[in-house]
Amino acid sequence: MKRPVVIGLIALLLASAPSVSVAQAKANQLFGAKSTGSPHKPQAIGSYAKGCGAGLVELPETGPTWQAMRLSRNRNWGHPDAIAFIQRLSAFAAGQRGWQGLYIGDISQPRGGPMLSGHQSHQIGLDIDVWMLPPKSLRLNRSQRENISSISVRSQDQRSVNGNWTPQHAAILKQAARDPSVDRLFVTAPVKIELCKTARRSDRDWMQKIRPLYGHNYHFHVRLKCPKGNRGCATQTPSVAELSKGGNGCDDTLRWWVTDYLNPPKTKPQTPAKPAPQKRNSRNYVMADLPQACQTVLAAP
Ligand SMILES: [Zn+2]
Repeated sequence: MKRPVVIGLIALLLASAPSVSVAQAKANQLFGAKSTGSPHKPQAIGSYAKGCGAGLVELPETGPTWQAMRLSRNRNWGHPDAIAFIQRLSAFAAGQRGWQGLYIGDISQPRGGPMLSGHQSHQIGLDIDVWMLPPKSLRLNRSQRENISSISVRSQDQRSVNGNWTPQHAAILKQAARDPSVDRLFVTAPVKIELCKTARRSDRDWMQKIRPLYGHNYHFHVRLKCPKGNRGCATQTPSVAELSKGGNGCDDTLRWWVTDYLNPPKTKPQTPAKPAPQKRNSRNYVMADLPQACQTVLAAP
């Protein structure tokens, strides 16, 4: 091999070395360290639980009809679609008796990506947590926003809503579900059971967007659709087969959450099953697990 070729090869190896190490670096540590958005055109990259966000923008800490909570987390960043949605829904909420607007929990980190703590999703700037606590004031200071807690709308036995639940909660959830930019909403099962009971039969088209999930009694979770024209954003397929057939989910799959889910039926002891393959936790993702474009988002100044 001629000398220049060898030197060329070594140079190539050296040049590629840093990106190899980035590829194996823990994604949540890298994304968790970013304090500002990336200077790109806004784009959701990858999927809700495995991706990042380019050009995310900060939700103003206080707006006319909202406040962002837990500012120390710096998770009030989202795709512009998410910011616009929060403006719309909070303006609606402000028209509800007892509600000044909305308290907004986590959206995403400044560049999205996996987090050091908390959520598996919220990675691409399109997931928004909204507190169940009706805002009495939109003048909370930073420390109040760290210390105030939301309220649970679920009973102790986890089977029904409690006295904190109001018709205004129902109206806000319905409004959110009818918003064309919303893909689905996650709520504790008793909330959906209550909505199934109270919504008029002729007015339930929005109900299929309301999905029961564990937790979600202190906040509800809004998941927006991939923005129009946003290639590289992975649309989530229906998670409940029945729902994809046009049902509204007010059925046995819903009752399961307040029966067998809480009290698994006893079965005869069987020979130990093979351990289920470990589900990969977004906390362990390395950069190579995320779409390639996330390295560009991360590397930008
Ligand atoms: Zn959430």
